[in-house]
Amino acid sequence: MKNNKIALVTGSSRGIGRAIAIRLAKDGYKVIVHGAGRIEKAKETAEIIKNNGGEAEVIISDLTDLSKTAELCEKIKNVDVLILNASLQYRTPWQEIPQKECFEQLNCNFISSLMLIQAAVDNMKQNKWGRVVTIGSVQEAKPHPDMLVYSASKAAQTNMVQSLSLQLAKDGITVNNVAPGVIYTDRNVEALSDPEYAKKVTDSIPVGFYGEPQDCEGIVSLLCSDEGRYITGQNIFVDGGKSVQ
Ligand code: NAP
Repeated sequence: MKNNKIALVTGSSRGIGRAIAIRLAKDGYKVIVHGAGRIEKAKETAEIIKNNGGEAEVIISDLTDLSKTAELCEKIKNVDVLILNASLQYRTPWQEIPQKECFEQLNCNFISSLMLIQAAVDNMKQNKWGRVVTIGSVQEAKPHPDMLVYSASKAAQTNMVQSLSLQLAKDGITVNNVAPGVIYTDRNVEALSDPEYAKKVTDSIPVGFYGEPQDCEGIVSLLCSDEGRYITGQNIFVDGGKSVQ
């Protein structure tokens, strides 16, 4: 049943974001599907939502370019739910990381998240109701040596979540981070196609298998619901136990 609320899910053209977008649409939200540029993939997510009886629209915006993030901010001032899922990940030995990779990852994974929250929060405050969920990573707890900026950007985002959860608590707005472990999506298909690497990765996951994008949607759905109203400022790992190993 529709709930007259609007949810933006960044990076929902594919992967975890797509699973979350489809779930929130089933929960009754009108969903803004977002992607960086693969418009066909974003439209595919929107079609799936519509075929399930939901409402969706598509927005494209490259969040490594902060002028594009600023344009997106102008279009999302009426959202009730913000899922900050889009991210960029480079794998480079730390001494070789060029500044361009630093800025792109920080722009997309941290600064854009802050800007989008800044843009959406006034409407949430007015309604005395809002939900912000950032998507982090198990790498906040277990940083990969060759993904230093990526893992640092996720840790920065979670620190922001903690700060904002306190500052927005009295406004009926909850702010949480969901940190996935290894989830089988486009970004790791190639790496995991190497059987030796795949075995090493699987052996590092206590439950003994990779997650699917759908493994991340239930917790996001709960956090966005009225049942989630007493959960704020949390970092919730969805990682088969990897963060505590
Ligand atoms: P994915 O399958 O690689 O999809 C990435 C999504 O982000 C796509 O919708 C893509 O849009 C969008 N995107 C990429 N670059 C962007 C940019 N510069 N500006 C705006 N949007 C951009 O990703 P995923 O594996 O589902 O990951 C989703 C989230 O979970 C990310 O925050 C990631 O860090 C986190 N995570 C994933 C894993 C994992 O194992 N998969 C583990 C830990 C954390 P286009 O389709 O247009 O390119």
